[in-house]
Amino acid sequence: MPELFENTKTAFALKSDAELERAYFLFKLIANQPLVRIGTAVTNFAIKTHLPVEGLIRATVFDHFCGGVNEKDCMPTVDKLWEAGVCSVLDYSVEGKDTEDPLDNALEVTLKILDFVKEREAIPFAVFKPTGFGRFHLYEKLSSGKKLTKAEEEEWGRVVNRFDITCKKAFDLDVCLLIDSEESWMQDAADELVEEMMRKYNKKKAVVINTIQLYRWDRLDYLKGLMERAERDGFKVGIKAVRGAYLEKENERAEEMGYKSPICASKKETDENFNKTISFIVQHLDSISLFAGTHNEASSYLLMQLMEENKIAKDDHRVWFGQLFGMSDHISFNLAAEGYNVAKYLPFGPVRDVMPYLIRRAEENTSVAGQTNRELELLKKERKRRKI
Ligand SMILES: Cc1cc2nc3c(=O)[nH]c(=O)nc-3n(C[C@H](O)[C@H](O)[C@H](O)COP(=O)(O)OP(=O)(O)OC[C@H]3O[C@@H](n4cnc5c(N)ncnc54)[C@H](O)[C@@H]3O)c2cc1C
Repeated sequence: MPELFENTKTAFALKSDAELERAYFLFKLIANQPLVRIGTAVTNFAIKTHLPVEGLIRATVFDHFCGGVNEKDCMPTVDKLWEAGVCSVLDYSVEGKDTEDPLDNALEVTLKILDFVKEREAIPFAVFKPTGFGRFHLYEKLSSGKKLTKAEEEEWGRVVNRFDITCKKAFDLDVCLLIDSEESWMQDAADELVEEMMRKYNKKKAVVINTIQLYRWDRLDYLKGLMERAERDGFKVGIKAVRGAYLEKENERAEEMGYKSPICASKKETDENFNKTISFIVQHLDSISLFAGTHNEASSYLLMQLMEENKIAKDDHRVWFGQLFGMSDHISFNLAAEGYNVAKYLPFGPVRDVMPYLIRRAEENTSVAGQTNRELELLKKERKRRKI
């Protein structure tokens, strides 16, 4: 069905004319690289010096890419998405700080979200980031194989505890829990911990879901190893497959420190790796569940085709498509209209605290060749259809 995502009427059905105009205006701005750079600097300055820019940010980028400042604030958006058959993943998008206090706050928020989403059909997942629950440098030290000090060991015990409390609660409430992935040099420690959680809580189905970044050339082998251990030891693997968001940082660090980059040599290789991996998963759904987090049309069409070839029902609970709120509505809403399982990450948090998330979205849309143009092209098509 190669024309499915061209349907802009379904894609933008939830947007009023004013919202459509705002999206068009925003993506036009974001397409302009120097403007994004200047805008980012000015916004950072304004936030640091407490200039009253929150209202302006809220009315523009924030409302386009976020659900609200807290979970209740997100509900009108959750309800609107749900009417169109699209689920939400409430994503507390306040980025990790390198001290311990905010970590207990992130734990508290995640537990509160689990209570909030239980029995809400429209929100079947919760999500957290490993660095929300532990200091980056602690994961990094463990991943590098260095010995922790006594104090660090105790600190790591508290991280394990935060993971365990959250995964147990998700298991008890029967809410699936997505765990994001981050930079490769801290990821081994997080992967080991998540695997431990899968062993404990995924005996019958994938409640705990780890993320693999397929811009890393080693991840399919990692997944095959994980599947072998799961089949041998009797647990299910939950996988969110993404391409990966830290490309430049990864390559720069590898070059600076003189090791082989963990990243595929080209976009084409990443695409092939991603597609090969989702094919592998669809052929092993008895052991692995898939949440495909992607805005890539070709990969989304491929997943539809793989499901058909392997006679997997469109609403099979083991396969989900995921996009970010404010992006690629043409994929999300058209897939949902066809009966596929679709969920959008709906970020929330105080305006100034989600700024790093918003800046990453702006930069990503600027740097990913073609993506902004695609959004603009579709918005233009819909404006024309509505005769705006
Ligand atoms: C629901 C959801 C959840 C996500 N969760 C995470 C997460 O937990 N961790 C995380 O890191 N990211 C996460 N992401 C972001 C994701 O990793 C991608 O950055 C983003 O989705 C863009 O990739 P794409 O598949 O949509 O497709 P495209 O837009 O087709 O691909 C862009 C991606 O291709 C890769 N790429 C680009 N150029 C090159 C190159 N020269 N060489 C090699 N590879 C290249 C990069 O990964 C880049 O982001 C998530 C995305 C979604 C939609």
